[in-house]
Amino acid sequence: MIREFIQSANRPWEIAAMLKLKLASRSNGKAVYSLQNVNEDSMSDIDYCYTVLTKVSRSFAAVIQQLPVKLRDDVCIFYLVLRGLDSIEDDADFPLEQKIQLLKSFHKKNHQRDWKIQGVGDTPDYQALLANYDKVSRAYLNLEPGSREIIDRICREMGKGMAEFVEKKIGSHKDYDLYCYYVAGLVGVGLSELFASTGVEGSALRDQPDLSISMGLFLQKTNIIRDYHEDLHSDRVFWPEQVWRRYGNELKDFEKNPESKKSLACLNALVVDAMRHAVDSLKYLKQVEDERIFRFCAIPQAMAMATLYKIYNNPDVFTGVVKIRKGLAAMMLVELDDYKTISRYFNYFAKAMLRKVDKTDRRSQELRMHLHEIINTCSTTKAKSSVKYS
Ligand code: CA
Repeated sequence: MIREFIQSANRPWEIAAMLKLKLASRSNGKAVYSLQNVNEDSMSDIDYCYTVLTKVSRSFAAVIQQLPVKLRDDVCIFYLVLRGLDSIEDDADFPLEQKIQLLKSFHKKNHQRDWKIQGVGDTPDYQALLANYDKVSRAYLNLEPGSREIIDRICREMGKGMAEFVEKKIGSHKDYDLYCYYVAGLVGVGLSELFASTGVEGSALRDQPDLSISMGLFLQKTNIIRDYHEDLHSDRVFWPEQVWRRYGNELKDFEKNPESKKSLACLNALVVDAMRHAVDSLKYLKQVEDERIFRFCAIPQAMAMATLYKIYNNPDVFTGVVKIRKGLAAMMLVELDDYKTISRYFNYFAKAMLRKVDKTDRRSQELRMHLHEIINTCSTTKAKSSVKYS
């Protein structure tokens, strides 16, 4: 915490935001802790789901708690089902043929009250989720038929897509978009459908799946670009070969020459591509009616925008993890309540990035075009602030 305070030393508003969150988490933390003290075997299925959720994703568990009650269980179980699928996909020791079969048939497991599998998943927490999966499927079977149908369909399509990419690398740009659609675009589609089917939102968001897909792609691509170094050392490749081949013979060349023109040009090409989705993200957020759903959707999008600003033309991406300051993330958590605020963030980072554009870069014109488009979209809401985020 001390280090985070020092990073935000000349930004008192960030320190205030961090303290506010720290106090809030203290009162919430108690509830989570008392739940963890209960024996997992004697817990109800849904209580188990919330307990395991805090283990597989602490940050997501906190945001889910803030969702409207009639949607909370549905989103929690949707998340766990997809996390189960992802744990199978990410287990490098799982025999390929079996992995493909299980990814394709995983959606059917949700309908079996006692299905579970031991020893699959790349961390102990993910293994625990799959080893107790019968509890997740029983909680799933308790959901409304409308929610079950959505979760089932998204799980089936995502599993099929993941299976397709088990043996196929992300070669072309089209592959890259398709893979991101399977693992993230579909999450956006499913969430928008759940918002509508539970009646928390109207049908507008559900009826524009392209915007939901862009929301997912914006997040996924940001993570893929940012995680270059970690993925390289875990033998995973998500950067599309067709793109990086233009700048190097091997993906690891960039790590050896982080400051070189070619390495940075490759990084920037991917950032420019991710930026294509930002305006759709704003269009989606403008139409969200419920404030709690707005926060749930907007906070990750704002973090992605700030991350893209930070990783653009940044050689540190090739040698480690580049993250936004804790203080900035805290500010977002505290103040992102409405469209005016998200457009202020997007506007701020688009303008800051415009000043950072490397004019000698081949893609600089295209980047400028996307940034101006974002700024124009934001300017219609007349968002003005003197706060400096970067
Ligand atoms: Ca994965």
